[in-house]
Amino acid sequence: MIDRSLFDEVLDRLGVGEVCSGVSTGAAGRNAEGEALVSINPSTGEPLGTVTTASVEDYDRIVEASSRAFGEWRRTPPPARGEIIRRIGLELRANKADLGLLVTLEVGKTRSEGEGEVQEMIDMCDFAVGLSRQLYGLTMASERPQHRMFEQWHPLGPIGLITPFNFPVAIWAWNAAIAAVCGDPVVWKPSPLAPLTAVAVQKIVERVAAASELEGVFNLCIGRDAELGRMMAKDGRLPLVSATGSCEMGRSVGQTVAARLGRSLLELGGNNAAIVSEAANLDLALRAVVFAAAGTAGQRCTTLRRLFVHESVADAFVDRLRHAYESIRIGDPWEEGVLVGPLISERAVERMLSAVEKSRDQGGEIVSGGKRLDRAGFFVEPTIIRATPEMSIVSEETFAPILYVMTYSSLEEAIDGQNSVSPGLSSAIFTDRVTEAERFLSPEGSDCGIANVNTGTSGAEIGGAFGGEKDTGGGREAGSDAWKAYMRRQTCSVNYGDDLPLAQGVEFEVGGPTRVTSPTAPPTP
Ligand code: NAD
Repeated sequence: MIDRSLFDEVLDRLGVGEVCSGVSTGAAGRNAEGEALVSINPSTGEPLGTVTTASVEDYDRIVEASSRAFGEWRRTPPPARGEIIRRIGLELRANKADLGLLVTLEVGKTRSEGEGEVQEMIDMCDFAVGLSRQLYGLTMASERPQHRMFEQWHPLGPIGLITPFNFPVAIWAWNAAIAAVCGDPVVWKPSPLAPLTAVAVQKIVERVAAASELEGVFNLCIGRDAELGRMMAKDGRLPLVSATGSCEMGRSVGQTVAARLGRSLLELGGNNAAIVSEAANLDLALRAVVFAAAGTAGQRCTTLRRLFVHESVADAFVDRLRHAYESIRIGDPWEEGVLVGPLISERAVERMLSAVEKSRDQGGEIVSGGKRLDRAGFFVEPTIIRATPEMSIVSEETFAPILYVMTYSSLEEAIDGQNSVSPGLSSAIFTDRVTEAERFLSPEGSDCGIANVNTGTSGAEIGGAFGGEKDTGGGREAGSDAWKAYMRRQTCSVNYGDDLPLAQGVEFEVGGPTRVTSPTAPPTP
């Protein structure tokens, strides 16, 4: 068991009280007027602390504060905005161990994964600081004499940010660090399953914001359920709603935001697959598959859920997988050597057990695991099930460590099987044959937003644009040019001559006839 006094010291250092407010507009927390929300430690089922949630009136005040802050923040030069993010990155470095431990306690990730999540926030801050000097627009060749045509990017306005429980701090950073350097305030509604980590992040941000008298740029409103998220989707004051979570949530948010012609950035569920060819380095594939399928207790959006193994190596590979699964240490995630912690809730355990039951009913063979652990908390065994693509349960994302293993005989069959589900987040192939790898990456190959060769489906780096296709929502966050989603593009033409030449050769003389000449005709001297 973890020593409660150690936990209290951590909360104390993070500035999180036993009962704390779930409302903040940046420089300081505000008293919240909503109901109490109790945070539960999934490893014990016991309460960790209580957060007073935001009422409807609190939410309204927060969005108003963010709209007011936008007026000033959009005038602040981007590198000066980047300087604020740099300072947040420094605060995160100073609090990495404590915040990482809180992630471990509140959502059950192992210590290394909890701290890894905070490192991801730090990496995002570093990336955003560099980006603050690189919000480039293009200059295009104008067809009109003495004209300059270019595009520039402007801040969009306050962003509504809805996040899931399973990356309770990193997804804030993916969005908030980039949105802030782009000139947009952020209104954050975290998962009700991880309210204390959200308060702790906000406290870190508040220290930087208070020193810079920054009010309304980084805002927090914690709700007891999804209601504040639904309000954000309808709220015309938020030009963009960035929402990460299940496909069901994304469908609701996407449709509501579209109905008011707003923008949404959707990062939704996955049902990720990997292909293990007969030409694979099987030792490497084994390590990658175990981490991607069982790591984080199967609670990553990129968790490996379906495995297609070539029929010639399938039996031997599944046998090795079973041995590897038997050696995985499941337990208190703060303990050294533990690789798999608990699921997030009792409901998550029920869903997992129900999926195992359905698999059995549909003809699946349980190779390993399939049960709940007989102890307090929400622990289950990582599970391997031999399955066939016809089993309908295989097409569902069960947010738990279940790996369905299927066999294939031709690469086309494996790729078709991989692409046959409705989400399109992450995918991988293990092969040492260049032709197989290239076919997998070609337009006829994987239809996912992420396609890897000889590395697993999970564990993306922040430098690339992260996200998926089809029911995963099409959004891209974090690196590459994902920042463009947080800005509005403006195309500008400047005439520095005394004439008014028109595009496409159109002539328009006031009082005279209007005629069109060929756009390719040489200009008349
Ligand atoms: P969830 O959909 O239950 O909740 C996510 C967030 O959305 C929470 O803050 C919740 O309160 C809110 N919400 C739920 N319904 C809503 C609605 N109708 N309107 C507005 N807000 C609503 O997801 P979860 O269980 O917290 O997280 C797990 C899911 O998230 C999995 O499906 C996983 O694949 C997905 N996920 C995707 C990514 C990605 O980048 N693609 C990353 C992490 C998690």
